[in-house]
Amino acid sequence: MNVKEAIYAWYQTNGRHDLPWRQTNDAYKIYLSEIMLQQTQVKTVLERFYFPFLERFPTLQSVAEASLDDVLKMWEGLGYYTRAQNLHHTALTCKGVLPKNPEELGGLKGIGKSTAHAICSFAYHQALPILDANVKRVVCRYFALSVKDDKVLWEKAWKLLHVKHPYEHNQAMMDIGAMICTPKNPNCSVCPLEFTCKGKNAPENYPKAVQKAKVPTKKRFALVVVQEGKLGLMQRTQRLLHGLWGFVQLDEKPSDAKSLGKVIHTYSHFKLELEIIQDDALHVNVDGWFTCKEIEQLALSTVDKKILALSTMMRNIAPTS
Ligand code: SF4
Repeated sequence: MNVKEAIYAWYQTNGRHDLPWRQTNDAYKIYLSEIMLQQTQVKTVLERFYFPFLERFPTLQSVAEASLDDVLKMWEGLGYYTRAQNLHHTALTCKGVLPKNPEELGGLKGIGKSTAHAICSFAYHQALPILDANVKRVVCRYFALSVKDDKVLWEKAWKLLHVKHPYEHNQAMMDIGAMICTPKNPNCSVCPLEFTCKGKNAPENYPKAVQKAKVPTKKRFALVVVQEGKLGLMQRTQRLLHGLWGFVQLDEKPSDAKSLGKVIHTYSHFKLELEIIQDDALHVNVDGWFTCKEIEQLALSTVDKKILALSTMMRNIAPTS
């Protein structure tokens, strides 16, 4: 048996066939799972986000017909909100129907080459390899590649692809990367690639670990302003958290502001340390005033939810007023 057949056979008995996005050939549902899984673990997506999102937006057309605010609201808590913005943008761009061609798909916002190949291979069984983070690791180790060079990785992924069974091959490669060829302590003894794997004697060398730079800490101030029992919020326009509602953030602390506490949140590229302050006399521009009940209908980032919880507790603002 060659390695392609071994991977295929392994998938028949060991693959995670029960994942809901593997029980459909609806390209939208597959696309949604791919996007959600880009930065989030299967367990989290499965338990908290995939089904509620599909219940609210059963088709890509329904995403296209919704406002970005509604899409963001359903994405709330999942993080990396650019994914939701891109999903909404894509739904509008392709008028609710995804193209079937990998080049066209790859040209849509937020859909890279690997995601385009995943959609085409999982929805239409097209013979295209995928290269998500887990699969890259398996390919690097199997071919003993110390450096993650995309051009070389794609060549190797094509070489390994079982063109007769691209669906099963790609699903198997994802599963092997997630369950066997894990970043730490890969379990080579149960791996179907083991008998021809070039990197099995020192998997930790492939690829070579890159020293991660320490993430910088940004210190800012989040301002809680209340007028007639309503909180002043703004809608974010910057790339990170675009479209989400939140508290005004300042670089400097106004001289008369009182401190309510601290909230710390770690993003992928920096750590944000926010001191929560109040100064109702300060004149600031906000985009809207809301009661706590009204805020429940808005999409807020995790950090703004933490600020809301802290400020309602400290300022004694009734949560349902
Ligand atoms: S044999 Fe080991 S190193 Fe090679 S692909 Fe399998 S788990 Fe990874």
